[in-house]
Parts: sequence; structure tokens; C-alpha cells
Amino acid sequence: MKRPSSFSRRTLLAGTAITVAVSAAQGITRVARADDKATKEQAKYQDHPKGQQRCEICVNFQPPNRCAFVQGDISPKGWCQFFAARDNAH
Ligand code: SF4
Repeated sequence: MKRPSSFSRRTLLAGTAITVAVSAAQGITRVARADDKATKEQAKYQDHPKGQQRCEICVNFQPPNRCAFVQGDISPKGWCQFFAARDNAH
């Protein structure tokens, strides 16, 4: 079996470095796109609870009045179709 030459190893390492750099750049792009939130209309947001479900016990809630998925200010007592209860929600 033929061993790879040092040139081949260097080429492989360079390729790996480029791959890591590109992956990092894509990660930054993904973070930037995280700001692309749904409108309240798209999320079917309402400013009152749906039964026991409300923003203040949702995993996406960002106190005091923001949401990871929905644009603009929201009410802690609001609700939308993206509701997902926190583990310790009550
Ligand atoms: S219920 Fe909807 S608007 Fe409220 S925090 Fe959760 S995802 Fe955001």
C-alpha cells in the first residue's frame, strides 16, 4: 500500500482548513438569518393566552417582551402557533 506523500498531507490539511473556514462563515450567516423572524400575522400571534399556553412559559420567550421566532414586542400573556412549553412550565 502506498503512503501519501507530504505534499498530499499538506494539501489535505489545507483543504481541511478551508472547509473549517467555510463552515465558520456559514455559521455566521446562519446567525445573521436568525433575525429573520415571522410576522405576528404569520405566527397567528394573539395578545392573550390560549388556554394555559402563553409566551411567559414558552421556550422561545425572551423576557421581558421579545420572542425568538416572532417580530416586535410581544406580551408575556400572549400566544402564537409556535408555542412550545418549557420543561418546567406550569
Ligand atoms: S408563544 Fe409564540 S410568540 Fe409567544 S414566546 Fe412562544 S413562540 Fe414566541
